Amino acid sequence: RIVYLNGKYISESDAKISIFDRGFLFADAVYEVTAVLDGKLVDNAGHLARLKRSCGELDLELPVTTEKLTSIQKELVKLNNLKEGGIYLQLSRGNAGDRDFAYPVDTKPTLVLFTQVRSLLECPKAKNGIKVISLPDIRWKRRDIKTVGLLASCMAKQAALSAGADDAWLVEDSYVTEGSANNAYIVTAEGTLVTHHLSNDILHGITRKSLLQLAEEAGIQIEERRFTIEEACEAREAFVSSATTFVWPVISIDDYQIGDGKPGPVAGMLRKIYIDIALSTAD
Ligand code: PLP
Repeated sequence: RIVYLNGKYISESDAKISIFDRGFLFADAVYEVTAVLDGKLVDNAGHLARLKRSCGELDLELPVTTEKLTSIQKELVKLNNLKEGGIYLQLSRGNAGDRDFAYPVDTKPTLVLFTQVRSLLECPKAKNGIKVISLPDIRWKRRDIKTVGLLASCMAKQAALSAGADDAWLVEDSYVTEGSANNAYIVTAEGTLVTHHLSNDILHGITRKSLLQLAEEAGIQIEERRFTIEEACEAREAFVSSATTFVWPVISIDDYQIGDGKPGPVAGMLRKIYIDIALSTAD
């Protein structure tokens, strides 16, 4: 694989960064994942806008313009001949030469991008749905900033796999915030689509934003508010969204069957519309 590191396109085995890089020492770094379909970037303007916002919240200066970032992403997709999968972008505050909490001055940030091959369109989890378990949300309180401090999310995902499930829904003050790496939704018995409102408690998903717009255009009633696991278990449908899943139905929560235990129609429809539009608007 050819990867990008600070201005160079090089083989992944040649890509090396310092042990003093603040991304490594403190998770002082932000990231984005953009889906690639048909060799093109999906919803990428939204991802780069969020990257800018994450940087702003951390006083982390983007070393290149968004236009330049887009051209690096496209070049890397081309060099690796990536047709379907994702492109990962990470920006850390860089190598300060020592270990010190204070933000260094005049340190060059580290910019890394690499591609990942992934089956996004044809995948068993999209077709059959996933099982989730609920777990306490032990993450920090600025989940709106997309940082690489992901250990709590790794622990949640691993706990879900160990329990024989596919993913975890994280619960705080009795309410579901989101999944370990996706936004969480339910469809109530009345057909209302419910997902956590935007706040510092969740990541403001780019796929979430597009899906809510598509749902509204499709005439679906939407409520952006919190919901409990109990309400989710009584729901007609449940699903998750992210750039790496688009939409995956949730068929059980804590072994409690959702609806008839099969992927629901609203999730299926939103997945289809999202992919159709992604295929026609990706660039
Ligand atoms: N929530 C969390 C915690 C995530 O890690 C992600 C994606 O990585 C999402 C939500 C979905 O965001 P997006 O749709 O922008 O991929």
